[in-house]
Amino acid sequence: MTIRIGIGYDIHKLVEGRKLVLGGMEIPFERGLKGHSDGDALLHAISDAMLGALALGDIGKHFPDTDPKYKDADSKMLLGEVLDKITCKGWKLINIDANIIAQAPKMAMHIEMMRKTISEILSLPIDCISIKARTNEELDSLGKGEAIAVQTAVLVEKS
Ligand code: MG
Repeated sequence: MTIRIGIGYDIHKLVEGRKLVLGGMEIPFERGLKGHSDGDALLHAISDAMLGALALGDIGKHFPDTDPKYKDADSKMLLGEVLDKITCKGWKLINIDANIIAQAPKMAMHIEMMRKTISEILSLPIDCISIKARTNEELDSLGKGEAIAVQTAVLVEKS
């Protein structure tokens, strides 16, 4: 059996007039993540880590933001497509760990639903999906609430 690891990172600006979509769900907040797609930084970072584990490039290569097809795209579909790309090569996911870095809103009450949503998209048991959230201690742009960033690590295996 071969095991490989991938890391992912994404950051999106918080702007007015957008819904906040994170982890495949809508979170009530007065601002949302700016992006060509729905701006779901968590699903983007997971997708990026999965592609990275197999050295398949990054999410921007597979879903270019210059392509009108991906305008306001549902990132749940993008993540599903990334899963297809790795499973058709014979790889399967082992686990995911993620950090959401957001000064606001509070994420704690939404994390279980995010894990459940991601579990369903990836057909991965919920106890293999870890999502943690933290603030940036009011430091820098993240700490001033100007953006939300996400870091992820994923492990994949091929038998
Ligand atoms: Mg992104």
